[in-house]
Amino acid sequence: MKRFWFGIVLLTMILTPGCSQVNLNVVSGKESEQNQTVPTVAIPSPTITASPTHMPTQTQTAFLPSTLFPSATLRPSATASLTPDPNLTFYGPGPVLAPILMYHRVLNYASGSEYVVTTEQFKRQIQWLLEQGYQTISVADLVEAVRVGKLLPHKPIILTFDDGYRDVYQNAYPILQAAGYTATMYLIEKSLNEGGNLNDAIIEELSQAGWEFGNHSATHAYLPDSKNLEEEVCTSRTRLIEKYGLPFDSFAYPYAAKDEKSIQAVIDCGYTSGAGNGSFTIHGEERLFFLSRREIKSYFDMQRFITTVTDVR
Ligand SMILES: [Zn+2]
Repeated sequence: MKRFWFGIVLLTMILTPGCSQVNLNVVSGKESEQNQTVPTVAIPSPTITASPTHMPTQTQTAFLPSTLFPSATLRPSATASLTPDPNLTFYGPGPVLAPILMYHRVLNYASGSEYVVTTEQFKRQIQWLLEQGYQTISVADLVEAVRVGKLLPHKPIILTFDDGYRDVYQNAYPILQAAGYTATMYLIEKSLNEGGNLNDAIIEELSQAGWEFGNHSATHAYLPDSKNLEEEVCTSRTRLIEKYGLPFDSFAYPYAAKDEKSIQAVIDCGYTSGAGNGSFTIHGEERLFFLSRREIKSYFDMQRFITTVTDVR
């Protein structure tokens, strides 16, 4: 059984690069998706080597060991009749336009706090995004697109929720589900299973539904002043990974507060991204460890929301 799963993982790794190529190579990616049981068909056509600058050589070598693809089995003509998935566009490698929105709580009543949007407000916002053709992606998708390139929906957007409030599950999740959207939730490790926060069962359910989880530190400490940087950033991540079996590849800085030391701690811990705040909607490699997120405040009317999403920087 183990060998079977290893085979699946290996096969997935082999097939993935087909989706990570640019332009013409999209054909190979589609091909590989449709023929997962016939690995030889996924062999990249010679056009891949014609545009080697799109991907670092190192990555190509890692994903496409030549010994697995003896030239005798190459059948590039098999891909000729297939067309690329019309719902996807190849993004990256390099800067990618994808607004990242930041929310905290969603309640059925106006609470007076700028961090709490109402369920009605949230519903209108998601409805608008849907009408405009936005599709949600994960932070991990964005990172992969920026680093090595990835097929993404035409208008990708990332919805993030900080702090792990249960009302997000109660009020935002059903709306997102109806829209076919997923989101990214940044958890405060020590607050889980307490009061109005997410519990293990909900995390499991959201994860099954495609939600992404990131770490938002052990105790929501202000990192530039923290004497427990290792614990806040890294040991907490290890515990989260062990407990939930999820990657926790992204870290959100509490209060979006960072300094050189805390960013370095996030990098050293092995995260692939750090989420902060900021005004950019175009994300390049140089900002992956303090990703710009635009906060949606409770006092935003629809026009302000639309501007926040569509203003390109
Ligand atoms: Zn927070």
